[in-house]
Amino acid sequence: MYKIQSSKLLKEVMGGYFLGMKDTNKKYAWCTSVGPAELLRSFGFEVHFPENHGALLGATRTAGDFIPESAELGYNNDICSYLTSDIGSYLKKQTPLQDHYGLNGPPKPDIIVYNTNQCREVQDWFTYFAKEINCPIVGITPPRHVDEVTEAHINDVSSQFKSMIPACEKASGNKFDLDKFKDTIRLSKEATELWKKVLLTAKHSPSPISFFDATIHMGPIVVLRGTLIAKDYYAALLKELEGNAANKVGFLQEEKSRIYWDGMPIWGKLRPLSDLFIQNNSAVVASTYCNSWIFDAFDVEHPFESSAKAYTEIFINRSEMAKEKILANLIEEFRIDGMIFHDAKTCANNSNSRFGMPQRITEKMGIPTLVIEGDLCDLRFYSEGQTITKIETFLEQIESSKVLS
Ligand code: SF4
Repeated sequence: MYKIQSSKLLKEVMGGYFLGMKDTNKKYAWCTSVGPAELLRSFGFEVHFPENHGALLGATRTAGDFIPESAELGYNNDICSYLTSDIGSYLKKQTPLQDHYGLNGPPKPDIIVYNTNQCREVQDWFTYFAKEINCPIVGITPPRHVDEVTEAHINDVSSQFKSMIPACEKASGNKFDLDKFKDTIRLSKEATELWKKVLLTAKHSPSPISFFDATIHMGPIVVLRGTLIAKDYYAALLKELEGNAANKVGFLQEEKSRIYWDGMPIWGKLRPLSDLFIQNNSAVVASTYCNSWIFDAFDVEHPFESSAKAYTEIFINRSEMAKEKILANLIEEFRIDGMIFHDAKTCANNSNSRFGMPQRITEKMGIPTLVIEGDLCDLRFYSEGQTITKIETFLEQIESSKVLS
């Protein structure tokens, strides 16, 4: 059975990250997953990402225990289940971090930082904690849903980055150091370039990495970008995957179809979904989600401006027109036969099927698309039987149309 050997190293890397949070002498920042992690690290903060905790609650299928706690505070069941499960976990004083790493919960923050480049939900979520824990909070609110990022956008957002500095200095006790910021950007850039190459190995047939593997191996680029640890991890992973690709070793011997996954992962169902595609000899080789941590724009010589560009041009923050273009390119690049859109009930921001995108992709690219309903964490919105039937029928249709063509 195909196995990515670097998984062992990944476990050590992620374990080291979480166990490091036991150190109460460090300064901690909480940050959104596509927030200004590099700037925070340059002040010496260790960075905790509440969305990562939300994903952990989803993957361990404990989110359902916590979501009702937030509902009692008035958080609707239809809003982000990362938010509702994370706040619920805090209220219930329970977390899978306890079983896995002996942590009673995420580390107490010295500062909380968000960027609404992905959604407004993070602002509400982080503001709740800032009030609850009595912690300073700063936010970046970039222009949303842009076609292309312009100079005016960059000026706006980079000045918002700069205006965070006094709060970071106060919370960290350290003066801003431009060289340290540049160093962190350099490490982040090197890690993100390696991560991109990791994802690009899936252009090979057979592919050495699936979307489901990538959702696990993306851990360091989310939580450790800006560190040497992340860079070294992706160098090792890339070496292994390139070796496998050169030897024509992949997770499937024969790929009967190559699929693109759009939208959020269904964290609590990664394994059964991965098995389902493998049983049908179908390779899910590319995704919007895992690509979201590729930041091409980082430039060491222009750390503020390039951070502003990198974090404003992310897929989720683009117009429908720009998204369509990006998807069309990826479909060609990865030789995609069909596209699955996950319509996540509690995340409209990362569900791209609601404004006619599947139909437009079929028309423009000539490939079939399928919409499945589900959610990132709240499995009450996911019907397993119905989804399996839909996916199997979809894959059969792709296969028969390939035989006929
Ligand atoms: S993008 Fe979606 S899943 Fe992520 S924090 Fe915002 S609402 Fe939640």
